[in-house]
Amino acid sequence: MTEGQMTIPGQVIEDTVVPACEPWSAEVRKGDVVRLVDIEGQQAVDFLCYDLADRAERYNAANTIKLNNNIYLGQGTVLWSVRARPMMTIIADTCGSHDTLYGCCSIEIDRVRFEKENSWGCQQNFEKELAKHGMGEKDIAANVNFFMYVPVREDGQIAIADGLSKPGDYVDLMAERDVLVIISNCPERDNAAAGYEPTPVRAIVYTPADC
Ligand SMILES: [Zn+2]
Repeated sequence: MTEGQMTIPGQVIEDTVVPACEPWSAEVRKGDVVRLVDIEGQQAVDFLCYDLADRAERYNAANTIKLNNNIYLGQGTVLWSVRARPMMTIIADTCGSHDTLYGCCSIEIDRVRFEKENSWGCQQNFEKELAKHGMGEKDIAANVNFFMYVPVREDGQIAIADGLSKPGDYVDLMAERDVLVIISNCPERDNAAAGYEPTPVRAIVYTPADC
């Protein structure tokens, strides 16, 4: 199921298949890279990051949009913090479009928008994973959605569309400081975020060969 033959341009520190619907986290040192692989395609990966030494210094969607002058994330995008410091940079991207407007799914929002009582969401995954690091609900900010396609029309209309990611697409995120990375492999089955059928993703941490 995993693309075990994928070439990693450096020394692999961790290589994990994150099962469908599960969270994952890692402490990543400055200069190291997190590669997120959409193994089967059309699978949203909800993402947050924090300065390892000062968790109040965290990813900020609005600053990232302002300082990149764009609502979409792709190769070359810097992820900025709430204090306008660089957190991570997207140094490779085979997909081409990632969202940071739409936030994450949750039991609560699904209750409102789908009138369904789902048992789990990315909000719950974030809380579960953050708890391993002594953190919780108050630490959750508006997140990145890697591999999720959210087109915005001229009149401002916005919706999740079918994902553009193909099997094996990946993003490489280089840490600009020591960071804590938290992801939720999105469990949503009621919209296109996970292609209506959540699938595993792969998370690799590596030290680039030229460092
Ligand atoms: Zn989700």
